[in-house]
Amino acid sequence: MAKIKKNASTEASKEKQIYDLKQLLEISKSLTAVLDFSTLIEAILYTCMGQMKTLGVAIFTKKNFDASFYQLSGNYCGFELTDDLDYAFPEDHPLFAHLSKPGACHTEADLRDLLPTDGPLKALYALKPSLIVPLKTKNRVNGMLVLGEQISSEPYSDYEKEHILNIAALASIAISNAALLEMTTTDMMTHLKLKHYFYTVLVEKIEFCAEQGLSLSVLMIDIDFFKRFNDTYGHSCGDTVLQMVANVIQQNTRTQDMAARYGGEEFVVMLCETAGHSAHKIAERIRSSIENLDILYDGQHLSLTVSAGVAEFDPLRDKSAKLLVDRADKALYEAKSSGRNAVKIAK
Ligand code: GH3
Ligand code: MG
Ligand code: MG
Repeated sequence: MAKIKKNASTEASKEKQIYDLKQLLEISKSLTAVLDFSTLIEAILYTCMGQMKTLGVAIFTKKNFDASFYQLSGNYCGFELTDDLDYAFPEDHPLFAHLSKPGACHTEADLRDLLPTDGPLKALYALKPSLIVPLKTKNRVNGMLVLGEQISSEPYSDYEKEHILNIAALASIAISNAALLEMTTTDMMTHLKLKHYFYTVLVEKIEFCAEQGLSLSVLMIDIDFFKRFNDTYGHSCGDTVLQMVANVIQQNTRTQDMAARYGGEEFVVMLCETAGHSAHKIAERIRSSIENLDILYDGQHLSLTVSAGVAEFDPLRDKSAKLLVDRADKALYEAKSSGRNAVKIAK
């Protein structure tokens, strides 16, 4: 009698297969609806934990669309990290070349046979991975999933490996969509958001805050006498300084806030759940940090200042996002006319 080889799909009952297909449909709907990167990573991790019945799930992806490293994302679950290991792979690491080849899931043993163990692989093996799954869209790798052992301690079956590969394919598409959004909404020079995207999010946040009775404030920040700065030290020095100012602004905003490049040397910041007096303090902190920046360019110590305007969302007055930003802009104008290097709050 001819022997019939059991393949992955015949391992599970028809009912189980239909159930898993429905699950995949739900996973597809939920993952592709998320465009915020850290929310997406969290959704992928929890999906994998639930579907693969494991407490250990981690994901390596690029932190930004122009990053050259695949890094372990901060919200991993169930793995213990070692301080002296660096959990990051350069994008041209042989592991990622290997993961991009057609094929399935990998185990530590497979990889040890194929690739010489170096620093990043040592870090990966220290996680004691049971399964390593490439995140692949159209044969392009954009990360990898690392799974710990199943709660049952059973090895992953071929059927389960096929299932996680399907989930990984969906996760990879969702990651690539999130990266695409980030790329098209980010100013390449300062890495802050672009004005049009800022307004899209501000409109949503205003609606939310108005409904929930929460406060929200906007800052407009403009570099003082930047034309003169460019004329004195050159445009390329001006560009470097613009990036430094953007950095200070970014460092003073939380993840739920958003900073954008409004125009040439003008920035706008949305501060969620922040009343005018707190927003004023933040603007003042940004102003004084920039005033105290010691800019070393071509052996010279340079300095510069900014002015800022603050406006708190007022549901009676700010009938549109634009009106709120206009009030912050007016306050900025007052800061400029008061002598610059100042912060003014809109009445
Ligand atoms: P104020 O204090 O009134 O704001 O004076 P200002 O000189 O900063 O304002 P003004 O609007 O006259 O000039 C803005 C300058 O910003 C002019 C332009 O050269 C410079 N600028 C705008 N975008 C960039 C950029 O991307 N790189 C550099 N280096 N300079 C820029
Ligand atoms: Mg200016
Ligand atoms: Mg300006």
